[in-house]
Amino acid sequence: MTFEIKERDLLARIGRLKTKSSTVETPLLFPVINPSVQLIPPRRIHEEFGFDALITNAYILKKHFQNQPAEKGLHKFLDFNGVVMTDSGAYQILRYGDIETTPKEIVEYQERIDTDIATILDYPTGWKVTRKHAEHTVNETLNRAKELFETKTRKDILWVGPVQGGRHLDLVAKSATEMAKLPFQIYALGSPTEVMQSYRFDVLVDMIMSAKMNLPIHKPLHLFGAGHPFMFSLAIALGCDLFDSAAYAIYAREDRYMTEHGTSRLNELEYLPCTCPKCSKTTPKETLEMPAKERQTFLAEHNLHVCRAELKRIKQAIKDGRLWEHLEMRAHGHPALLQALKRLKKYEDFIEEHSPAAKKSGIFFFNSIGLTRPEVVRHRKKLKERYSPPEKAKLLLLMPQTQMKPFHKSKEFKEATKLLRDTFKEQLNKIHTCFYAAPFGVVPVELDEVYPLSQHEIALPLDKETIDYVAKQVANYLSNTSYEMVVLVHDPENWSKTVLNACKRTCLKKNIKFKYFNNKANRSKIMPTKLKKILQKALSEEP
Ligand SMILES: [Zn+2]
Repeated sequence: MTFEIKERDLLARIGRLKTKSSTVETPLLFPVINPSVQLIPPRRIHEEFGFDALITNAYILKKHFQNQPAEKGLHKFLDFNGVVMTDSGAYQILRYGDIETTPKEIVEYQERIDTDIATILDYPTGWKVTRKHAEHTVNETLNRAKELFETKTRKDILWVGPVQGGRHLDLVAKSATEMAKLPFQIYALGSPTEVMQSYRFDVLVDMIMSAKMNLPIHKPLHLFGAGHPFMFSLAIALGCDLFDSAAYAIYAREDRYMTEHGTSRLNELEYLPCTCPKCSKTTPKETLEMPAKERQTFLAEHNLHVCRAELKRIKQAIKDGRLWEHLEMRAHGHPALLQALKRLKKYEDFIEEHSPAAKKSGIFFFNSIGLTRPEVVRHRKKLKERYSPPEKAKLLLLMPQTQMKPFHKSKEFKEATKLLRDTFKEQLNKIHTCFYAAPFGVVPVELDEVYPLSQHEIALPLDKETIDYVAKQVANYLSNTSYEMVVLVHDPENWSKTVLNACKRTCLKKNIKFKYFNNKANRSKIMPTKLKKILQKALSEEP
């Protein structure tokens, strides 16, 4: 097997990709190497910076070095003993209009130079192109993909099948569906540079998901041109395993200093907010006084360190089951990223289906963005599709979430149970207690220890969207079950009247008897005589 998945969180995975040179761990970043102008020698990128793989351009190699890489072998030619991937140079060929090169030649050349991972000469869609043109690029790429399997002679090279379509999402889906039928070891998304440059990460989310949902989920996905560490976690969370980045070098040429949150201009910095070996020894002022080439190298090296550190953080987050928390943190580095994170709502069902169910750590809930989390979506689905209340339950007692978790261990619940037991004795099994709680909605008491209904932390006061969500879940729960009576312990302090009104409306619609009482006045005793009376009255009215 070429690709083995070790750990998962959201759609992200830590995997092992086996190539003919060596086996590497994913998510993996391939720094882009331009053999004509290379600031940091490939050997150092491997040994000093810890990158196990790099990517270079087959077209540029062929154009500038012809047979040299083939004669020496690509690894020797580059002086790099990790994994080498080659891009076909499709973008350059389009741009410079080289009609001398054929898809077949590019395939043969990559075999000849002995690359580990090779890319067919695809036809990049680009950004602001008509649908007709986009369709043409998809079809042409597909034809060339099919041709590969007649042309290639070696079996030890991993081939990449690029998905095209640009922002025409139905075409991306079609391209992915068709490419998926061909036996590529790796798939890729050709992402127009413009999407990244214009910070349209929300569009990128759509593009990645349109590809991901139509490709074999167990195969690795490469995202072309994803260069900035502040969006790594987003792409990885959506199931991208491999990336290439020229940004570390391009940014360096423009005096731009990467951080995991964004980019700064070197001349705008008073301090270097980084502890990499390069930044530890200098100041922004000193770097500005360096000769241009030296400064470029400094920046390229720092940028690589930042990329690598962020990848490590993401991998640890995957292992800890905390990738969502990491995503939220990064999303607050730039509104465009937050907008992209909000776009995940559109794909919450697919993400939920493919996310691991159990984790070793609890989850943190900061605000309504977290309502898209697979754990929240999963609880909603399970409650609707697979849960029914105890058979004899006629009266639903709805209590607000308590500070203590699991809820059934709280003082409030224990007091309530005692009162119910003392008062109702054999009628007790007619009463079913559920909690209304953020972010999950309705939590039946007998389930409150099931992960993660107790294993989470939440910030109060709740935002309006979260309150509305919980109220909606309460209404849905009442609609989908058949209690005869509902008694709500109303908590106006945390929930205003939203849950109360949702209950009232649904009960009225379903002709369910509804009573509530306000627990604000006597919070230390959640079950005052008033509630006892309400319950007694409700049960005695039972037909
Ligand atoms: Zn640094």
